[in-house]
Amino acid sequence: MRKVLISACVIGKNVRWSGGNKRYDKIKDWADENDIKLVPVCPENDLFGTPRAKIRLRQEGEEVKGIMKGKDIFPQLRDRCEQILLQYADAVGFIGIARSPSCGISVGVKNRGSTMKAPMHASAPFPTTEVNSLRTPQGLELFLRRIEKYESR
Ligand code: SF4
Repeated sequence: MRKVLISACVIGKNVRWSGGNKRYDKIKDWADENDIKLVPVCPENDLFGTPRAKIRLRQEGEEVKGIMKGKDIFPQLRDRCEQILLQYADAVGFIGIARSPSCGISVGVKNRGSTMKAPMHASAPFPTTEVNSLRTPQGLELFLRRIEKYESR
């Protein structure tokens, strides 16, 4: 069975900073139909627990900082995401969620003038996407094709 990592909040776990989730149950049907095991991951809950303060990304010179309660926690966050990706080296994809400093594919960064890939996408060896791109049959099909291409590498 293929293994695809997914932001735990998308699968319905209450791990968002506020203690809520962003459940999207249809993704489970797609996974079942395509012999995919969805593996929930949440780097922020691993590091800081839930609920927790929000993280804001900010550009300072060449560096991106992730500010939480006045402290830069971005190095820790990046390391945790990389650990997760290494831990699941046999996975073939990751499904994240928009605007998260850990799991978003195109996240706003203050003072940068452009978005950036959060570490769960930037460091992943396999195809990644956001759940918003998987709300149509075309989006699901496209991601599946990318996974198949990765598997046949
Ligand atoms: S870190 Fe990722 S999985 Fe965890 S709550 Fe934020 S978006 Fe969801």
